[in-house]
Amino acid sequence: MAGSELTGIGVAPGIAIGKAVLLPRRELRVTRRTVAAAEVPLEQGRLREAAARARRQMEEIRTRAAEALGPHYASIFDSHLAILADAQFLAEIQERIAAVGLNAEAALQEVARRYADALARLEDGYLQGRRTDVDDVAERLLQSLLGAEVPRLDALSPDTIIVAHTLAPSETAQLDRRRVQGFVTEVGGRTSHTAILARSLEIPAVVGLPGITSQVREHDLLILDGITGAVLVNPDQEVLASYQARKEAYEQFTRQLHVLGALPAETADGYRVRVTANIEFPGEAAAARLHGAEGVGLYRTEFLYANRTTPPTEEEHFAAYRTVAEAMAPNPVTIRTLDLGGEVAPVAAAEPDSRAAPRLRAIRLCLRRPDLFRTQLRAILRASVHGSLRVMFPLVSGVGELREARAHLEAVKGELEAAGVPFDPRLEVGVMIETPSAAVIADLLAREADFLSLGTNDLIQYTLAIDRGNEQVAYLYEPLHPAVLRLIRNTISAARDAGIWVAMCGEMAGDPLYTAVLVALGIDELSMNPGAIPLVKRIIRTLSTGEALQVIHQLSACSTAREVEGLLRREMARRLPELFSAAA
Ligand code: PEP
Ligand code: MG
Repeated sequence: MAGSELTGIGVAPGIAIGKAVLLPRRELRVTRRTVAAAEVPLEQGRLREAAARARRQMEEIRTRAAEALGPHYASIFDSHLAILADAQFLAEIQERIAAVGLNAEAALQEVARRYADALARLEDGYLQGRRTDVDDVAERLLQSLLGAEVPRLDALSPDTIIVAHTLAPSETAQLDRRRVQGFVTEVGGRTSHTAILARSLEIPAVVGLPGITSQVREHDLLILDGITGAVLVNPDQEVLASYQARKEAYEQFTRQLHVLGALPAETADGYRVRVTANIEFPGEAAAARLHGAEGVGLYRTEFLYANRTTPPTEEEHFAAYRTVAEAMAPNPVTIRTLDLGGEVAPVAAAEPDSRAAPRLRAIRLCLRRPDLFRTQLRAILRASVHGSLRVMFPLVSGVGELREARAHLEAVKGELEAAGVPFDPRLEVGVMIETPSAAVIADLLAREADFLSLGTNDLIQYTLAIDRGNEQVAYLYEPLHPAVLRLIRNTISAARDAGIWVAMCGEMAGDPLYTAVLVALGIDELSMNPGAIPLVKRIIRTLSTGEALQVIHQLSACSTAREVEGLLRREMARRLPELFSAAA
């Protein structure tokens, strides 16, 4: 293939130039065999040994990830280890071997497929990620059973770009940053563990390019742009030279960013935006500060519930919130209450439902299970005296839910008061705007909340009727769709009219292309992946609100996301040519 350009989803920024190393889909061939009753213990023994070997490999990977990235990222592999240690998972395979007289490989494949299918039917992005974990573990177990070679990712030449069907989180964690310039995969989305790891390792990455492993040959020259998602195969000299120049400019630019992180996010004419971080583990607060975060705008608390069969205790919640509050003080921390669906082990009593519509999840689940909700609220209130905390509720669709949630909060405050336990009586209460209904009635919600926070990941998927984790409809995931922009504008003006502040904490907040639009619309706080903070601050510092308003004025005449993006790119390329190219 010569001189072609493809576009996928850029998930980790930076420009990579190198030679393709192909990791096509590995179809490990499994022959289905019936085994005689006498052979059953032998097959079961093979499975036990393979599981022990796979566990040792995973533990090694976990240790290496902890060394390279810190303990919080290493905990991604806890779910892999939990599956390998899951007595029920292994027992089901053992049972298939005995009941049907199947060989271990075929029994493993059947059971793993059933688990993965059950997870795939769920609509929750977080649990979809667990499906990749099951696939990852099953593949490792199968390799171990078949004695197949595990692909070696630590002995590559120093200008490698990996082209793979998919890269499991365990494989991504093994990538050596000095050798692997970047990677591109056929499947995957922005919020997968693999994408999160690529951003932390600072390896430029593009995902969601079906067919790429058959379009590219081993050693083809590739250019990969992790911001725009562009992948160029065997480019000509002129294109190569222009990307080499952009790569150098980008690298020089990122070297200055760390200095910029410490500066305030203020436009040339004095409009101040608070730039904060999204975190999932208490240990990330320190990294957030280092990148220049002026607080935490979204603390996703779901990890407290992961890999366990009972819900976290009030003390466990409290310890996590106190750690983050103290690490960020005097800056504020916004804790989002539980945003998981009913199939999570500790809340198994809730009903599972379909992927077509959001289930009994987030605030809906919390209102159905006040025991879980109040435990979390009590811990947040208790931790509020150790720093500056706020609380916000996810997936609110109407004022009724907000009132009910606030009533629980007031009840818990009453209990604490009666027991003489101190808490911050001014704890601010926010509503996440992530359903179209909430955005349309933002004025009604704003009357009864202290702040609003736009969760654009969900808002976009529900507004445009697409599944955010599905690569088939990824092309429709358009933050600049006029419908999305109108909902954002409506939410921000509702907050302004009500005299409360408004934040954005979806991925859109950390994408430099959108910063000018959000500033012009009057956003007060932008919360993002810590790595994105210095760049967004830099963009804010190059803007003036007058200019940004002019851009918005021009955008309002556009009818499609494509037109909006074209116009925006041209404007940004004029201001920051080292970062943006005029082409969409
Ligand atoms: C969002 O929906 O934009 C959001 C921040 O929440 P999550 O990505 O956790 O659903
Ligand atoms: Mg959300």
